[in-house]
Amino acid sequence: MIIKRDKDIIKCYFEDESGLLGGYADEVIYPESEKEVINFLQDSSSGHAPVTISGGGTGVTGARVPFGGSILATDSLNKIIDIDEKRLIATVQPGVRLSELQIELSKKGLVYLPDPTEPNAFVGGTVSTNASGAKGFKYGPTRNYIKRLKIILSSGDALDIKRGEFFINKGEDISLKFKKRDLKLKIPAYSMPAIKSAAGYYIKDNMDMIDLFIGSEGTLGLITEISLSLGKEPERVMSFFNFFPDEKAALKFVKDAKACNTLSLEYMDENSLNLLRQRHKNIPSDSKAMVYFEEAYKKEDESSITESWMGMLEKHNALTEKSFFADSEKEREKLKEFRHALPEMINEIVKKNKLPKVGTDIAVPEGGFPEMFEFYKERLLYSKIDFVIFGHIGENHMHVNMLPKTEAEFSKSRSIYMDFVKKAVSLGGTISAEHGIGKLKHAYLEAMYGKKGVAEMASLKKSLDPACILGLDNIFPKELLKNTNCH
Ligand SMILES: Cc1cc2nc3c(=O)[nH]c(=O)nc-3n(C[C@H](O)[C@H](O)[C@H](O)COP(=O)(O)OP(=O)(O)OC[C@H]3O[C@@H](n4cnc5c(N)ncnc54)[C@H](O)[C@@H]3O)c2cc1C
Repeated sequence: MIIKRDKDIIKCYFEDESGLLGGYADEVIYPESEKEVINFLQDSSSGHAPVTISGGGTGVTGARVPFGGSILATDSLNKIIDIDEKRLIATVQPGVRLSELQIELSKKGLVYLPDPTEPNAFVGGTVSTNASGAKGFKYGPTRNYIKRLKIILSSGDALDIKRGEFFINKGEDISLKFKKRDLKLKIPAYSMPAIKSAAGYYIKDNMDMIDLFIGSEGTLGLITEISLSLGKEPERVMSFFNFFPDEKAALKFVKDAKACNTLSLEYMDENSLNLLRQRHKNIPSDSKAMVYFEEAYKKEDESSITESWMGMLEKHNALTEKSFFADSEKEREKLKEFRHALPEMINEIVKKNKLPKVGTDIAVPEGGFPEMFEFYKERLLYSKIDFVIFGHIGENHMHVNMLPKTEAEFSKSRSIYMDFVKKAVSLGGTISAEHGIGKLKHAYLEAMYGKKGVAEMASLKKSLDPACILGLDNIFPKELLKNTNCH
C-alpha cells in the first residue's frame, strides 16, 4: 500500500470541483487490494481517525474534501475485472474512470447508458453520488444500472449485495450478521419525492438493500467492486442544438418535445449562451435560449425523424438555419465539447472570483415546473447577482448557478438558494437531483426532510460506521453523530 504525506503532492486531494476551500489531511493512502482496505479501516476505526474516501475529485459538493485525518484514494483500485458481453454486465473496481470504461465498452459495441457527463469521474464516485448524465431523460440515474456492490464497512466487515436479493422497509429494524458481530440498523421512515433525487439516503418501502448504498456519499463504507448493466450502442444517433429567439418559444418547444422518445432534453438560458460566446463565435447573435436533444434511430427512419423534428422546431420559431446538427460520432464529439464547456467556464469564473458558486440541483414534479422556473427568474433578476440557468429540462431539473463576486453577494446567493429550496419542497420537489449534499447543502436537506429525517440518517450512518470515521460532514453535520452516541 502506498502512503503519501508530502503536502505539495497530496494537496490536490484537498479540493474537488465545488470550490470549497480549507481542506486538509495528514496523508493519502492508496490501497491496492481489499485486504489492505480492510486493515486500514480497522486501524482507523480503533483509533477513531477520520477517513475521507476520494474518487476522481470531480464532485461539486465538497464531499471528497477532507477536514483532517486520512484520505483513502481509490486511484489504484482501477481494474476492469470483467465485461460479460452475453449477460451485458461489466464488473469493475471503483477507480476506473468513466472515460476508460466507455472506451473499453465501445470496442465491443457496448455502452454504459447513464453516462454521467464528466469523463474524469470514477465509477465508484458516480455510484456514491448516484450521478446521472445528459441522457438521463431516457435512461435515468446510475442507480438503475447497479446490479451488485461489494462494500467494506469501517469495521472491516464486507457486504456483497446483489440486486434483487434483500429487501427492506421504511422504519424497519434489521440485523446484518458478520463473523465477529451483528450490526443492528433502524431504517429511516421519511418519505422521498417521487422524482429523480440524490438528496440523502435513498429510503422507500420494499426497497432493495443495494439502493441504500448508492448515493451514500462515502459515509457508509468503501465500495470496492461494482457490477453494472450495459446496453448496446444505438445504430445511429442524431444530435440537435437548437437556438431560439426568445425563452418563451424554447419552453413551449420543450413542452411538446417531452412527449417524444428522445435520449436527452437539455436547456441553456441567454446568460449561458453569452458565456459560451467567449469561446464559440458561431452561436447566433439573435439567440436567447438553446434546447439540445439527441435521438437514436435506424437508417430507414432517418428522413421521417428529421422531418418531424424540423416541423416541430419551425412551429416554435427555432432558428433552424443557424442551429447545430450532428449525425456522426466526430460531429457529436464537437457538440459534446460545446455542452461541456459551460460547466468548465463556470468553474473558471469561480476560481477567478475566489468564492464558491452557489449552484442549485433542484428538480420538481412536472406540474410544478413552470411555477418554479418563473420563481427562479423573478428572484435572480431582482438580485442583480450574475447567474446562468441550464440543465436537464426534460426532467424538470435545472442548474441555477449564481456566481457571487463579493462576500455580500455570496451570502445573498445562499439566502436566495434557501428561497428556491422552500419553493421546490412546497411543490413536492427535491433539493438535489444528481449531485448529492456533500458538505455544502446540509441546511437545504433539513428544509426537505426536517430535523427528524436528518437525525434518522445520522443514526443509520452510526449503525453502519460505529466509530463514526467515514465521510464526516457529508450529507449532515458531524455534530449530529455526537447526539447518537458514537462509540
Ligand atoms: C464539468 C463537470 C460536469 C459534471 N456533470 C455532471 C452530470 O452531468 N451529472 C452528475 O450527476 N454529475 C456531474 N458532475 C459532478 C461529478 O462529476 C459527479 O458528482 C461524479 O459522480 C463524482 O465522481 P468522482 O469520482 O469525481 O467522485 P469524488 O468527487 O471524488 O467523490 C464524490 C463522493 O463519492 C465518494 N466516493 C468516491 N468513491 C467512493 C467509493 N469507492 N466508495 C465510497 N464512496 C466513494 C466520496 O467520498 C465523495 O463523497 C459534473 C462535474 C463537473 C466538474
